[in-house]
Amino acid sequence: MSTTKETANPAVDGSELIRFDKVTKRFGSNTVLDELDFSVASGKHVTLIGPSGSGKTTILRLLMTLMKPDEGTIKVGGEYLTHEERGGKLVPAGERHVREVRKNIGMVFQQFNLFPNMKVLRNITEAPVHVLGLSKDEADERARELLDQVGLGDRCDAYPTQLSGGQQQRVAIARALAMRPQVLLLDEVTSALDPELVAGVLDVLRDIAQTTDITMLCVTHEMNFARDISDKVLMFDSGRIIESGSAEKIFGDPDHERTREFLSAVL
Ligand code: ADP
Repeated sequence: MSTTKETANPAVDGSELIRFDKVTKRFGSNTVLDELDFSVASGKHVTLIGPSGSGKTTILRLLMTLMKPDEGTIKVGGEYLTHEERGGKLVPAGERHVREVRKNIGMVFQQFNLFPNMKVLRNITEAPVHVLGLSKDEADERARELLDQVGLGDRCDAYPTQLSGGQQQRVAIARALAMRPQVLLLDEVTSALDPELVAGVLDVLRDIAQTTDITMLCVTHEMNFARDISDKVLMFDSGRIIESGSAEKIFGDPDHERTREFLSAVL
């Protein structure tokens, strides 16, 4: 394991990178998030745990601007994601503003969502070239480094279908990192994998957590992984955080009965 820290995020000073303020999200009469407040400090690894349907994925989808909150505000890197300031007033964010703030956020999904018609290397270089304006050579060099980091340096010329699910997910992780986001969102990234492929993906994520300064916000059912990488764990139930604390505290000696029940069911 490498001991040098690669600085994907220079502002690792404990400052607030993500802030949810009184965020409410409803689907019809179903209140999925209920005046949710929380923040994530720069460079930290935060894991969201809790029963299915408690609102964890909704948080990641709000951050990816795949949906909007009904009430409340979300800030990333000190900028509103949901709003923008115009003439001293806070108004709903326009598309251009959202795109700018979103550049700070990378996401890896359950389904890897690679471009099937592009080779592995091009899957990774496409967005850096077209969105960040990197030259092809710069993007290629960075992609090769990332593929080395995820253990796939020799698969640049493969097509996604020629790879296992675990390898495809590792390409998806490299693709997200290629945009040099400040925060990496991980949504149950091993749930769609055959059991024997899970460990390889989690090892790559552990390595990224240990060797880079990237902030991670993670939804996972892999409790041992969560315990290993998390600086902080948030326990959700019915759209609220019922308990939060260090991994040691939440997994070792939780205060809330509901947390104990949940952990004894999944561990
Ligand atoms: P978790 O990730 O904790 O399993 P989710 O955030 O996926 O929970 O879902 C929280 C609740 O929101 C669930 O009751 C789910 O059915 C509902 N929900 C999520 N997305 C939608 C949607 N697009 N339309 C309607 N209901 C949704």
